[in-house]
Amino acid sequence: MKFNMENIVVDGDPKLRMPSVDIKVPVSDTDLELIQAMVDFVKRSQTDSFDDNDDAFTSAVGMSAPQFGINKRIFVVTEIRDNKQVFHVVVNPKIVKRSDKFIKLSTGENCLSVPNGKSLKLNRSRDIRWNGYLVDPEDGSYEQKKMSPAKGYDSIVFQHEYDHLEGLLYIDREPGVIHGI
Ligand SMILES: [Zn+2]
Repeated sequence: MKFNMENIVVDGDPKLRMPSVDIKVPVSDTDLELIQAMVDFVKRSQTDSFDDNDDAFTSAVGMSAPQFGINKRIFVVTEIRDNKQVFHVVVNPKIVKRSDKFIKLSTGENCLSVPNGKSLKLNRSRDIRWNGYLVDPEDGSYEQKKMSPAKGYDSIVFQHEYDHLEGLLYIDREPGVIHGI
């Protein structure tokens, strides 16, 4: 399985507005293959050879399964840690706590599933806590998370991807409104 830009489902496709379903943990071979293809996509999106478009680069900080037309509760986010690119595969997440304080991305949010969509500075909870799993894309081993924190920028990315699993796009949110599910 290999994903490319043309595999990305864009606004207008009903799959982006459907809630996704939990997967089995430990993950099946099929789901592990999906996870690996998603990680590979995000990895390639970070290189020049993938796409010369800045939005694609920014948006692919995270990708969710519904963006590939698969309504499973899986998303991948990436970050640079100690000068190394690391990937986190979040499975069956549930946000269980949200701070009263809000934060927004100074550059605004974009999404590969909304080509040419304008950036929106959405209010997102500054701190969240979530339950679910982190899955190692190498071998499918997993770590169960309970009340796991995400703060600041990480929290924004988490909530953007989480919205995809709930069937929401960032353009469904309104700037200036306080959001919480
Ligand atoms: Zn998105």
